[in-house]
Amino acid sequence: MSKKPKHELENNKLNKRLRHAVGDAINDFNMIEEGDKIMVCLSGGKDSYALLDILRQLQASAPINFELVAVNLDQKQPGFPEHVLPEYLSSIGVPFRIVEEDTYSVVKRVIEEGKTTCSLCSRLRRGVLYRVAKELGATKIALGHHRDDILQTMFLNMFYGGKLKAMPPKLVSDNGEHIVIRPLAYVKEKDLERYAELKQFPIIPCNLCGSQPNLQRQVIKEMLNEWDKKFPGRIESMFSALQNVVPSHLADIELFDFKSLERGQALKHGGDLAFDRESVPQRFPTAEDGDTIRVDGAPAKKVINILASKPKE
Ligand code: SF4
Repeated sequence: MSKKPKHELENNKLNKRLRHAVGDAINDFNMIEEGDKIMVCLSGGKDSYALLDILRQLQASAPINFELVAVNLDQKQPGFPEHVLPEYLSSIGVPFRIVEEDTYSVVKRVIEEGKTTCSLCSRLRRGVLYRVAKELGATKIALGHHRDDILQTMFLNMFYGGKLKAMPPKLVSDNGEHIVIRPLAYVKEKDLERYAELKQFPIIPCNLCGSQPNLQRQVIKEMLNEWDKKFPGRIESMFSALQNVVPSHLADIELFDFKSLERGQALKHGGDLAFDRESVPQRFPTAEDGDTIRVDGAPAKKVINILASKPKE
């Protein structure tokens, strides 16, 4: 029997990993139910193509029945290649609707030259998409945000908004009429990049509007990528933190009733370590003996191979 080439095995592994991650998110948050009609928002970027692709795979094997309908909003940005998405969607046989709405001109008219246009643009887009979801009778609206978008949003909110708040995998829309789901919530952006290459999705560039990218988000993205290179596991650990919140060990009086605490009550979430030594593991998994590294803004240090050094007698 002939062996499969290495790249084919890796591609299969990637596809399986994506299916599992999306399947887990769907189960954990009860994102899809019997009879759902899911409107998948397709921008022409790698994330939304992958979202649609993986949902189709899951649809084929799921024990429940649900419908998918792809929707693209053509915002009339100059140079938008109108033929790309209809051709792609027809070729894979997915029902779709292309909605033409010139939000581009509205944004250009209302926002002064040089000011950021994204927040008005997204608000307009959201309004149109909610309206279309209603027209289509969609029960859920699926968006292509992934794990890294969620973490970036958490840092943006912490750094600039003074809130411990990320991006929900499932929520009720602003108008209260729809359930919005993010089935890629557990998926790494790097996997989506590789998947888009592998599947040769006909990507539409996202800078047609000529707007500056959100610089704050970009800076946070670079910070997280840097951490990921230096400290493998940190991103995963941070995402796990979003799933393991300990309200009694934060300081939000709305979230935890600190005022009613009394002596003699049972320990809350493991009690207090205030008088103990911190038990945070001091490991530098990527650094080797003699490497110079920086740890979270501390001065650069030479790493001593703690595994090789003898414990003190
Ligand atoms: S980058 Fe352009 S199209 Fe995207 S949200 Fe901003 S203004 Fe709108």
